Amino acid sequence: MRPLPGMRDLKPVSSKLKLFAPRGSLPAYTIRDFLHRSDIPFEYPELRSDEQARREAAVRNLNDPGLPVCVFADGTRMENPTLRRIIEKLGWFRDPSCSEYDMTIYGAGPARLSSAVYGASEGLRTVVVERFAVRGQAGSSSRIENYLGFPQGVNGTELAERARDQACRFGAEILLGREGVRGEFLPGKRVGYLADGTKIIARAAISELRRLRRGPRLELILQLARAARSRTQWRS
Ligand SMILES: Cc1cc2nc3c(=O)[nH]c(=O)nc-3n(C[C@H](O)[C@H](O)[C@H](O)COP(=O)(O)OP(=O)(O)OC[C@H]3O[C@@H](n4cnc5c(N)ncnc54)[C@H](O)[C@@H]3O)c2cc1C
Repeated sequence: MRPLPGMRDLKPVSSKLKLFAPRGSLPAYTIRDFLHRSDIPFEYPELRSDEQARREAAVRNLNDPGLPVCVFADGTRMENPTLRRIIEKLGWFRDPSCSEYDMTIYGAGPARLSSAVYGASEGLRTVVVERFAVRGQAGSSSRIENYLGFPQGVNGTELAERARDQACRFGAEILLGREGVRGEFLPGKRVGYLADGTKIIARAAISELRRLRRGPRLELILQLARAARSRTQWRS
């Protein structure tokens, strides 16, 4: 099992977990996608009959609401688990460590991870909130050829993992399994509300550009510049 770069403080997952589900199960697809994108080794014994469902997954039949069933290496069995429960079980679910940040970034795709690297390397207290798995769209790209520094191209997964590692080395925090649902723009503060009720306060926030109403690119640049300036002032 490869280490999980950038998640150095998180426990690597070395043993296979098993996911039992019938063919075409949408929740199972979501879980498989998450496990795959997170480099978690797993087996997916597809259930084809009621008898097999009873024998292998300990449920009544193929339509049992307990499916999909996830069995972890330590024997823990979860029926129809949410991603959050899986992330918690893996020991990857974290609370924000600061009461206030300089920059919150919603999403851990490659562009936003770049922002995390630049922000954290400038000493900004940076937190990345990701509702699913680190990588974003890059997880589906086998070769990205226009990224600076990779003249031969780079696999999207590798690019995102390197970016995650780099961001974490500079001290950026990554909160997995959390979704930003609402933002408030107060003078000098961006308050982000997560789906689980957590509130994250920061001087600047980066979220999907199209959701910002006015002059998004300019606003983004201004926010970053303001955050960097006030951080420098705090230090001096
Ligand atoms: C198959 C494919 C090939 C590509 N090839 C190239 C290429 O060769 N060159 C190139 O320049 N670009 C390429 N792209 C585009 C490139 O991948 C994207 O431009 C890039 O991924 C955008 O990065 P991003 O950080 O903005 O976020 P994205 O990669 O779009 O990821 C967004 C992340 O944010 C998370 N998220 C969204 N909303 C929330 C929320 N409210 N709270 C918490 N998390 C949230 C999502 O779960 C996701 O992980 C390709 C894309 C695909 C799909």
